[in-house]
Amino acid sequence: MRVLLVEDDPILAGQLAEEFSLAGYVVESAHNGVDGHHLGAVEAFDAVVLDLGLPQMDGISVLKKWRAAGRSMPVLILTARDAWHEKVDGIDAGADDYLAKPFHMEELLARVRALIRRAAGHASAEISCGPVVLDTRSGRVSLDGRSLTLTSHELRVLSYLMHHKGEVVSRTDLIDHIYAQEFDRDSNTIEVFIGRLRKKLPPELIKTARGLGYRLVCPE
Ligand code: CA
Repeated sequence: MRVLLVEDDPILAGQLAEEFSLAGYVVESAHNGVDGHHLGAVEAFDAVVLDLGLPQMDGISVLKKWRAAGRSMPVLILTARDAWHEKVDGIDAGADDYLAKPFHMEELLARVRALIRRAAGHASAEISCGPVVLDTRSGRVSLDGRSLTLTSHELRVLSYLMHHKGEVVSRTDLIDHIYAQEFDRDSNTIEVFIGRLRKKLPPELIKTARGLGYRLVCPE
């Protein structure tokens, strides 16, 4: 899962990037409204954490511009404490959730996980596909109740497929959502991760949609 963090305070921005990376996300950061708006307008993200008080363009304007352009990724805004009008403005501008500063990092991570799940149509913290269960809180995967050992990239690929089960997911989608921008984005590596996942999972679960990508087919 790929998140965009737009926060101008250098200390908080650093903490956010570190915590989200540790939690297994691919992180892109912007430190002002103009850069943040640009990234969110042209790149694909599974969620955005958007500070409202930003240099160059404020967060509400950034969010309004994204929504006006049809960008529908879930956005959580960070508001100043006790500034209830910011929450109202933010929700009116298209925010999906908000958190007032100062906040506990655990709560932010939990809220972002919930936003990503809800955007994918899953209300529960666990997503299952036949005998495979992904716990989105811990990032653990089990098969028939037994814990599976996956590398971080295998987990990212499987997690993206689980959040979009039944849908065709293109290689480009997978590359966008599992690699950081500066990483060598070789689409052949996706095939390698898919091949490894097929060995660890029931092989018929991940179908190849020829020329289009992959589809997770769940026996119900
Ligand atoms: Ca700020």
